[in-house]
Amino acid sequence: MAKKVLVVDDAAFMRMMIKDILTKNGYEVVGEAQDGQEAVDKYKELTPDLVTMDITMPEKDGIAALKEIKSLHADATVIMCSAMGQQAMVIDAIQAGAKDFIVKPFQADRVIEAISKAMG
Ligand SMILES: [Mg+2]
Repeated sequence: MAKKVLVVDDAAFMRMMIKDILTKNGYEVVGEAQDGQEAVDKYKELTPDLVTMDITMPEKDGIAALKEIKSLHADATVIMCSAMGQQAMVIDAIQAGAKDFIVKPFQADRVIEAISKAMG
């Protein structure tokens, strides 16, 4: 059965791009969220196998959402999506339990590599 993924990003075109890469590689995108609070809510609702989590988002950012998800589901698998120059935030995220990170602009093979590795 296809692994279920929740795609979180405040930019619709970014969500579309990730969704496209995932779908073409046999993953099922079961939900999308455009801010951290929506990510937490959708995680609870959908319990996906994996989350791709943008860092910079309005209201609640990706780091806060990651921490909340990990406090509810310690075994949640979350991969952060970062922009150039966000190394400090990426380190913060890894310490908070993120499995890996991918850097924008996305390269399909790197996205798939990170995801398949994160899911073991
Ligand atoms: Mg963003």
